[in-house]
Amino acid sequence: MGLIVQKFGGSSVRDKERIFNVAKIITDTYKAGNEVVVVVSAQGDTTDDLIAKACEINENASKREMDMLLSTGEQISISLLAMAIEKMGFPVVSLTGWQAGFLTRSNHGAARIRRIKGERVRRELDNNNIVVVAGFQGLNRFDDITTLGRGGSDTSAVALAAELRADRCQIYTDVDGVYTADPRIVKDAVKLDEISYDEMLELASLGAGVLHNRSVEMAKKYHVNIEVLSSLEQKPGTIVKEAVKVEKLLIKGVTKDENVARIALIGLPDTPGIAFKIFSLLASKKINVDIILQSIGRHNTKDISFTVPLSDKDAALALLHEKFDVVGAERIEADDNVVKVSIVGAGMQYNPGVASKMFEALYDANINIQMISTSEIKISVLIERKDADRAVVSIHDAFDFKDN
Ligand code: ASP
Ligand code: MG
Repeated sequence: MGLIVQKFGGSSVRDKERIFNVAKIITDTYKAGNEVVVVVSAQGDTTDDLIAKACEINENASKREMDMLLSTGEQISISLLAMAIEKMGFPVVSLTGWQAGFLTRSNHGAARIRRIKGERVRRELDNNNIVVVAGFQGLNRFDDITTLGRGGSDTSAVALAAELRADRCQIYTDVDGVYTADPRIVKDAVKLDEISYDEMLELASLGAGVLHNRSVEMAKKYHVNIEVLSSLEQKPGTIVKEAVKVEKLLIKGVTKDENVARIALIGLPDTPGIAFKIFSLLASKKINVDIILQSIGRHNTKDISFTVPLSDKDAALALLHEKFDVVGAERIEADDNVVKVSIVGAGMQYNPGVASKMFEALYDANINIQMISTSEIKISVLIERKDADRAVVSIHDAFDFKDN
């Protein structure tokens, strides 16, 4: 018995059948004597459809009006889900983000949660209601509706779990947990019983796509244990928590990120301040640089290459060409025929040989490495796009995931 926050993603409530499926999970939890707070996303592709609809009317619609529109998706799913629970004979109330007290910063489309005034939700729980809350939305200090950025309902759920000091925060999706690799690519990928916040953050930002990154950051900050599990099958999922008992697994996962491009600045002067100049320029336009490689200076020149998100490639190139004289390169090259493949695991910091094992797997598969970067719990390589899946499979094969 306790207070449980359950979050259901768009595919889990996509139609009538799925809504009743979810309603059954919720009411079973309630019947077992728990207080239940539910957070839902918009049904299926609703958010994409709404964006398309907006574009038909005005491609440059203001972010305020976009938020006004997009927030309706979640309002549909909370009311329909509440109606299903009502029909099953349970006390329920649905609340929009603002009714549930979500106060956010003012930036539309990517608003951060500032705080949650939890009184209304608590009052509804005291009245024995199941409370169904719209994810992904809040209200800013101008009393305008905001949304939290795509995939933001995970963050709504974790924030609410923190505010209510929930005993559990369950994120239901259409996969049954976090895997050591994408099961669509690696057929013997293994489901993890648990993973640490730091490892999950690396995997989320590397494109594993199971949890919204900010939800994991928030869970780490407020010590909320997240359980990722399937709404379609009843089996234990993966727990995301502080530290994992013993590091049984050296690495937790292999993942690829396709949203990447490489830019090279050839023939830069080999003098102090060049890197500062280039990267402060990119930072001023909020372009995130990831892997950086600088060649050894030769004949007073050097080369610097780096990766940026593919979606930022054009902006980065435009900026570098615009400031061509300031940058001082002989030429600028760009390549988007690349992907980043990474392994993540807290265990690697205490065990030598992890990197060489990864490189050996790539060598065995005859895959050339263009760039390498490492952190305490991650090793990434940049390789040619066509080799991505083969690389993931051969690296996964090289590590033993059986004893998870
Ligand atoms: N409905 C929103 C989206 O599709 C929020 C979410 O799904 O978490 O991005
Ligand atoms: Mg969605």
